[in-house]
Amino acid sequence: MTSPSIVRTSTAELYDAHVLKNYARAPLTLVRGRGTQVWDDAGNIYLDFTSGIAVSALGHCHPDWVAAVQRQAGELIHVSNLFRNPQQGELARRLVQRAGPGRVFFCNSGAEANETLIKLARLHGVQKSGGEEGRCYKVICARNAFHGRTFGGMSATPQEKIQKGFRPLVDGFAFGEINNLKSFVDLVDGQTAAILLETIQGESGINACTPEFLVGLRRLCDERNVLLMLDEVQCGVGRTGKFYAFEHAGITPDAIGMAKGLGGGFPIGAMWVRDRFADLFHPGNHGTTFGGTPLACAAALAVLDVMERDKLLERVRTQSGPWHEALRQLAREFPKYVLGVRGQGYLVGVQVESDPAAYLTALRERGLLAPSAGGNVVRFLPPLNVTRAELDRSVEIFRSVLAARS
Ligand SMILES: *Cc1c(COP(=O)(O)O)cnc(C)c1O
Repeated sequence: MTSPSIVRTSTAELYDAHVLKNYARAPLTLVRGRGTQVWDDAGNIYLDFTSGIAVSALGHCHPDWVAAVQRQAGELIHVSNLFRNPQQGELARRLVQRAGPGRVFFCNSGAEANETLIKLARLHGVQKSGGEEGRCYKVICARNAFHGRTFGGMSATPQEKIQKGFRPLVDGFAFGEINNLKSFVDLVDGQTAAILLETIQGESGINACTPEFLVGLRRLCDERNVLLMLDEVQCGVGRTGKFYAFEHAGITPDAIGMAKGLGGGFPIGAMWVRDRFADLFHPGNHGTTFGGTPLACAAALAVLDVMERDKLLERVRTQSGPWHEALRQLAREFPKYVLGVRGQGYLVGVQVESDPAAYLTALRERGLLAPSAGGNVVRFLPPLNVTRAELDRSVEIFRSVLAARS
């Protein structure tokens, strides 16, 4: 028998033989990262504007983040929520400081944060019905939304490619159209417990709710005693130049789902709920084993510390303007290929004329990694500490791809 250590099989072969085939992956094996750069197993260097899908907020292996995680890993990693740990308490304080008076629940992913929101909506509906279950439970979401792959999140995600094969779904979801307040007003009835939507739709192509629409939803929810719950899993934690994307609209929701960038690469999710509704949860009615471990919370605290110390929100706001303008210039230079540039801060979508796959491949071959979004959008998600020179370089690489097409 051969010992596993001397089996020489390529990573591609291992994936082909043993990894579930539920992703369409780029033919690339990444082995190392530093800042905005990653290296593949052939030694090629790439500028990484994927950031692990808006996760690596400080880029790869930021020294302060690495030091914090190493320190915590040698101190205490996991204790469960049968006990307190200092890091969870401090991280909750910091998130409440950003969102307003309320409480925080920690979990491990965006989908799990959104499940918590959906369960909050159910609890609110029961309270609205004087304790009776099943009378008020509906959640109004948006067309083209993406809220995750669990049954609740998937049921809130009205996309055939995501729901197909998994029906029956969770009951009680209806769908309005973002920036069409009337479509939401028309759907709210006595059975409506909450409205749940992304402040900026990410997966479906970077489509933002306007401030007026969010203000209108806030008023609607106040009038009808309906929770306004915002999924900030992708657009939150600084990506738009404010800590939460809804801050641009000057509103406060009743609950927030977050994850992706929060841990800077360490899996962590969180739900914040406004004080007034926080007591709907009580000992026993929700939980998760891994939620808010000392290690996950130390990683998130390192992200927040660096973000504050290096004034990253300010940097995102000032640097994104010229970058967006340079991308818009590409749209003017190549109107046949680039149809528009959307987004805020470092959550940007460039709409191209066809399937973005060919663009992503060409960008990758010239050293820039980026994901797609929706049907025809190239998405750029640089880390929050990307340099001006790296932003410029992304535009030059894109320009060379477009020039080669014409
Ligand atoms: C990524 C994402 C999710 C799901 O997060 P996971 O961590 O993959 O479960 C939910 N909502 C939005 C807006 C997302 O971008």
